[in-house]
Amino acid sequence: MSGGRLMLEGKTVLVTGATGGIGEAIVERLASSGATPVIHFSRGNTQAEALLARISGKGFIVQADLSHPSGARDLWQQARAVAGDIHGLVNNAGIRSEVTVEAEPEEWDAVWRREFQINFFAAADLCKEAILHFRERGDGRIINIASRAGLRGYVGNAMPYGATKAAILNLTKSIARSFGPEGVTAIAVAPGWVRTEMVQPRIDRSGEAAAVADIPIGRMAAPSEIGELVAFLLLSSQASLNGATIDVNGGSYIR
Ligand code: NAD
Repeated sequence: MSGGRLMLEGKTVLVTGATGGIGEAIVERLASSGATPVIHFSRGNTQAEALLARISGKGFIVQADLSHPSGARDLWQQARAVAGDIHGLVNNAGIRSEVTVEAEPEEWDAVWRREFQINFFAAADLCKEAILHFRERGDGRIINIASRAGLRGYVGNAMPYGATKAAILNLTKSIARSFGPEGVTAIAVAPGWVRTEMVQPRIDRSGEAAAVADIPIGRMAAPSEIGELVAFLLLSSQASLNGATIDVNGGSYIR
């Protein structure tokens, strides 16, 4: 392996939702770049154990349900307890729920609140803990996985998703502006469609051709593309990307 690929050596990085499609790719790429990933999962540890085995056991596993208001804080404490110092945080866990304006108020409320709890409040709580830890050392980076949906608006039957992603984009910018002077940097990634389980219902419903129709390169991103990008964004040398939103959408939304 070339020296260039080991440029994250000595860095411990907490990745939330690490057993999902994008999360696994991030963990694998971080490990092959020399970092020590902290693999977060919510349910069933088989996948987390298998992922840890794939990176030759060179990481840690932590469990937490981020739908619970105290889930993120518990997760941070566990991660610190098993891994010690943490140098990077990747807020990747997320859900995409559907609810229409015709829904009963109870359902509407429940979906909006759960979406914000998992996609935004948990990420914000983890950012808080990470900022406090990183500023002690004067160094640390946060990568927030947002979405194209947070930039251009989203479909009427999944509006909470777009709103949570817009919120996390704004949070990333506030952190970058406010804590950069203390060595805490933050970058957002805004993917369009990435080929994971999250997009399978869309493909099943309308077919592959329709799903990629508005993507000029004619395909969805592979999870490995996000993994590669996140490893790059975590390089110490990339501090000038502080506050940036990186589009990964094949040209389907050019700002
Ligand atoms: P995925 O469904 O494969 O993974 C989502 C992860 O979030 C899983 O590991 C899951 O366990 C975790 N998670 C869900 N609910 C949780 C809870 N209550 N507590 C803790 N963890 C929980 O989806 P993915 O495609 O890998 O998505 C990863 C991130 O990328 C998400 O934030 C998603 O919004 C974002 N994203 C995905 C796409 C796409 O097209 N796949 C596009 C843009 C952004």
